Amino acid sequence: MNNPRPCYLQIAIDTPLNAVFDYRWQCEDHDRPAVGQLALVSFARREVVGLIVGVADETDVPVDKLKDALAVRSQLSPLSQKWLALAGFAADYYQRPLGEVALPGLPKNLRVLTTVALDRALKKLAKLDAPHDATPADMPVLNPRQQAAADVIGGAQGFTPALLYGVTGSGKTEVYLQACAQVLAREPDGQILILVPEINLTPQLEGNIRARFPGVMLATLHSSLSEGERMLHWLAAHQGKARIVLGTRLAILSSLPHLKLIVIDEEHDPSYKQQEGLRYSARDLAVWRAWQLQIPIVLGSATPSLETWHHAQSGRYRKLELRERAVKNAVLPQVKLVDMERDKPKDGLTSQLVAAIRQRMERGEQSLLFLNRRGYAPVICCESCGWISECTRCTSFMVLHRPEHRLRCHHCSLEMRIPRHCPTCGNVDLQPLGRGTQRVEEGLQALFPEARVLRIDADSTRKKGSAQQAFDTVHRGEVDILVGTQMVAKGHDFKKLTLVGIMNPDTALFSQDYRASERLFAQLMQVAGRAGRAGIPSEVLIQTRYPQHPLYGAVVHHDYDHFASALLEEREQAALPPYLFQALLRAEARELATAIEFLSMARDCLAQPGITINDPIPMTMTRVHNVDRAQLLVESPSRPALQAFLKEWMQVLRAMKSRVKWSLEVDPLDI
Ligand code: ADP
Ligand code: ZN
Ligand code: ZN
Repeated sequence: MNNPRPCYLQIAIDTPLNAVFDYRWQCEDHDRPAVGQLALVSFARREVVGLIVGVADETDVPVDKLKDALAVRSQLSPLSQKWLALAGFAADYYQRPLGEVALPGLPKNLRVLTTVALDRALKKLAKLDAPHDATPADMPVLNPRQQAAADVIGGAQGFTPALLYGVTGSGKTEVYLQACAQVLAREPDGQILILVPEINLTPQLEGNIRARFPGVMLATLHSSLSEGERMLHWLAAHQGKARIVLGTRLAILSSLPHLKLIVIDEEHDPSYKQQEGLRYSARDLAVWRAWQLQIPIVLGSATPSLETWHHAQSGRYRKLELRERAVKNAVLPQVKLVDMERDKPKDGLTSQLVAAIRQRMERGEQSLLFLNRRGYAPVICCESCGWISECTRCTSFMVLHRPEHRLRCHHCSLEMRIPRHCPTCGNVDLQPLGRGTQRVEEGLQALFPEARVLRIDADSTRKKGSAQQAFDTVHRGEVDILVGTQMVAKGHDFKKLTLVGIMNPDTALFSQDYRASERLFAQLMQVAGRAGRAGIPSEVLIQTRYPQHPLYGAVVHHDYDHFASALLEEREQAALPPYLFQALLRAEARELATAIEFLSMARDCLAQPGITINDPIPMTMTRVHNVDRAQLLVESPSRPALQAFLKEWMQVLRAMKSRVKWSLEVDPLDI
């Protein structure tokens, strides 16, 4: 009976080497490991967990080179073929080894825990109660447009990509929830994946889901969970117990055996793009996953990305529109431009903006001032010799943080006390130049001593839970004037907020980055969308030196359609994405010349028709933390042609074995 014999496991391991490794495993025929299971092996003198991608009777590896696998994690059901195909697609598309894609996507504890510890975890999961059957919170009656959208999404069969294009406050969330309700009712085991840009900024959504579906297990997956929680939630999804998974971009690689619907909220948000390591777009992978499983996917936004808009215009995605705000009497705010050449700002505030804030104070309503720059001032300078506070390690300035009496570089960790005198000439009168949120907060407090001013930015919300606390204070009406960065621009439903002041958005108008205007427009529409949501008349004041600029005209008229169509036309004429496909090769070295030299070699080592390789150039912010960075842009009007080129190119580059650190990004957002 007992008759173990060897089989050979092909195991993907998280290494930059583009390979799968063979290991020997003794077992009986009936308990052969399965593809999709995890195995513990020794690799480069360490014990690591790898993913079994093949099981064979033979191997080409010579017997003396072959090692035994140490253990197979048989207590965990295998990852499905579909999941493996998803990881395989991502690996191919982003030109990375499978192991580097598949394994980091799994909870760390699955990889590092001993077998005994893993069993204990698993036991905890078995004990995890299904939620109780409390009464679900009432569903508001949808308006006809919302109902039509929810029915399309909830009733769709097969691959149905839809853009839910709805102005801020139009009740997109309600559409998602009722579409979810339809799917959950129809599919007894069905699972739903809801992706949001940043979970900390959408606490209302999690509460809404729990209240609406009290009998359904909800798992959340995002980076602020502890490793223990993350594994528990991941397993709940993997075992099919959790029927709704709410997460940030990393949740796109979670294992969901019965996935029936994907929702992507604020699909235009740049946070869906991972900016280091495997630089994937969770939104794009989600669309692929929906296609693979032949299920519906809804992408929601008031300001869709041009990529998504392009698909909706061409009919590839279904366009579902919500043109009005959902709450009775709530209308979009009135947007006005304040010409800073005529109404000269004092302490950054024009007299019109000050008057508007005063009015809100008198009426007991809230104001929000938006400025996408934290700190007190972006730089300090010496007026007598011209010295400015540059970072010694980066191509950037040291930002003044006055409450903390520090200068800080926002790109490396460098920090120092504010110098008492100019390091070059000794002048003691160093001046802050420009303004950040701290300085605006200080100015407002001086102007309105009786006002309750609250600043919300990355500095004021460092402690865990403090962002939530700050937002709660606003919701309770304990704040008169809110000052904040993009953290306050997204998603929030502040009922008493009736004025949004935008301090100085002009710099983005003249950026070299061709995506800057798309981004600025989205940001202005989002932050403007915080005002007047409960039906009180509201306004948005944009302080600018360029009131004639067409971008501002489009914001004034809340006219995304025309603006987007004009931008798309420009992009088509200039041959830019989404009419062109790009990849960016980056290199970094102590000396810029070394990085450029490597990229020049890369440029010359392979040529293919239909592929344009540009010249290497230093990155805009060339030096960060004493490392110089350069980039090389590759372009093609054909995605398959670009993919084919990249595959071959990567092999050539890997074979070069250069000591320069390099990486490739497919579909880069920042060029
Ligand atoms: P969006 O995500 O489109 O910005 P939300 O989903 O946050 O909008 O909805 C805005 C507000 O409208 C919320 O307070 C929500 O409760 C409310 N709302 C949504 N749909 C309806 C409806 N059909 N009837 C009444 N209120 C609604
Ligand atoms: Zn000086
Ligand atoms: Zn620095």
